[in-house]
Amino acid sequence: MSDSTDVLIVGAGPVGMLLALAMAQKGASVRVLEREDHIIDSPRAAVYFPSTLLILDELGILPELEEIGFRNRNFGTHIPEFDYHSVVVTEPIEGIKYDYQLHAGQDDVARVAMEHAQKLGVEVLFGHEVHGYEEYDDRILVMTTGPGGEKTYEARWLVGCDGARSTVRKLAEIEFEGHTWPERFVATNVKFPFRELGYEQANFVCDPVNMAVIAQLDRDGLWRCTYMEDSSLPEETYEERIHQRYEWFMQGRKDYEIVSSSPYMLHQRAAETLHKGRILLAGDAAHATNPCGGLGLTSGVWTGMVLADVLGAVLRGEEEAEILDRFSDERRRIFWEVVTPAATENKRMLQEQDMEQRKIDLAHIKALDTNPESGALLMLFAYKVIGDVLRPNSRWADADPSDRVAINIKDRKGQIH
Ligand SMILES: Cc1cc2nc3c(=O)[nH]c(=O)nc-3n(C[C@H](O)[C@H](O)[C@H](O)COP(=O)(O)OP(=O)(O)OC[C@H]3O[C@@H](n4cnc5c(N)ncnc54)[C@H](O)[C@@H]3O)c2cc1C
Repeated sequence: MSDSTDVLIVGAGPVGMLLALAMAQKGASVRVLEREDHIIDSPRAAVYFPSTLLILDELGILPELEEIGFRNRNFGTHIPEFDYHSVVVTEPIEGIKYDYQLHAGQDDVARVAMEHAQKLGVEVLFGHEVHGYEEYDDRILVMTTGPGGEKTYEARWLVGCDGARSTVRKLAEIEFEGHTWPERFVATNVKFPFRELGYEQANFVCDPVNMAVIAQLDRDGLWRCTYMEDSSLPEETYEERIHQRYEWFMQGRKDYEIVSSSPYMLHQRAAETLHKGRILLAGDAAHATNPCGGLGLTSGVWTGMVLADVLGAVLRGEEEAEILDRFSDERRRIFWEVVTPAATENKRMLQEQDMEQRKIDLAHIKALDTNPESGALLMLFAYKVIGDVLRPNSRWADADPSDRVAINIKDRKGQIH
C-alpha cells in the first residue's frame, strides 16, 4: 500500500482536477485515481460563464485556457419556423471582471488543471478503477483494479468526482434522487462554417423536432452541434442518423466533417447527501442536470470549490466535520432551487411543441432583444450557483457579486427568462 494522503479524489474529469488543484494550493496532500488511461475528451462542456472564469482565474489557469480557447460575447436564438433570429451581446458590467464567456473543451480545462496540480505534488494515477473501500474512524482504504493489478490506497477523506454514474456514490449506498429525461441527446463535434448560415458563436435553436445547441469550440472551425432524438430509437445506430439530422441544421450543405460524437441520457438528479462518513461527492457525481444552458459543470465546479475550502479547513483543524453536512445541504439547495428550474425551463423552451406557448416564448425573446440589460442578465445568472460559501474567511467569500451589481440577480429564475 502506498503512503497515505489527506484526500483521494476519484475521477480526473474537470471537477476532480480543479478540486485537486484548489486543495493542493492550500497545502493538502492529494492523489487522484482515474479509470481511463487518459483524460476523457468526449464532446461535453464547452462554454464557461464568468462565475467559472472567476475560479479559473483564482486558481491561476485562466490565461493558459484563453490561449487554447477564445472569448465570445454573442449569444444567438434561432426559431426557424418563425424565421426569427436574434443576438444578445454581453456588455461590461460594473463590479464584474469578465464581460465574456470562454469557449474551450472541458478536457482542456481538466488537463491544464492537472498539469498545475502535478507541479504542486498531486499524484494522478490513470488506469486505476475504484471498486471498493473500507472505512475506519480516522481513515479510509480504497481498492482499485487496472493494468497494474489490484492496489489499495489510504487517505483521510475520499471524494467521488466520478461522474453521474459514480461508483463511489453507489458503493456508499447514497441514492441519486430525481428523474431521467425520456429523450436522448446526441453531442457532435463537427468542422463546418456555421457563421456563413447566420449562426452566432453560441446558439439556441428552438424547434419541436430539431431543437439544438450549437457553439463554436475553437479558432480552427470546430463546432459543437448537440441535438435531441427519441430514446426509443436504437442507440447503437445513432451515428447513421447524424447526416439526416445535419440536413436541417446545415440547410442541405454537405461540406462538413464530423470529428466525434456521443449519445447521452439526461438526468435531473442529486445525491440524497453529499457527505457520508469519510466520503464526499462533487461534480456530476453529486448532481447532474440536463445540459441546456450549460449549468452542469458551472454548478458542479462550484460544488467542488466550496468543498475544497471547507474540507481544507477541516483538515487544518479550523472547522469541525459538521460543516460538511452544511456543505451538502447548501449544494443540494442550489441544485434543486437554482439549477434545475433554469435548465428545465431552457429545455422546455428549446423543444416546446405547443404553438400558443411557442408564440409566448417568441414574444418574450423579442422583448429581451430590446432590453439593454439582457446581455448582463445572461452573464450574471450563473453567479447564482455560488450560493452560501459557509465560512466568513472562505477563499470564495467575495465571489458572489449580487450585492455589488446594480442589476438584481437574486430574483432571477432563469438565464433568458
Ligand atoms: C452534450 C453535453 C454538453 C454539455 N455542455 C456543458 C456546458 O457547456 N457547460 C457546462 O457547465 N456543462 C456542460 N455539460 C455538463 C458537463 O459535461 C458535466 O457537468 C461535467 O462533465 C462534470 O464533470 P465531472 O468532473 O464531475 O465528471 P466527468 O467529466 O464525468 O468525469 C468523471 C471521471 O471519473 C472517471 N471515473 C468514473 N468511474 C470511475 C471509477 N470507478 N474509478 C476511477 N475513475 C472513474 C471517469 O473516467 C471520468 O474521467 C454538458 C454535458 C453534455 C452531456
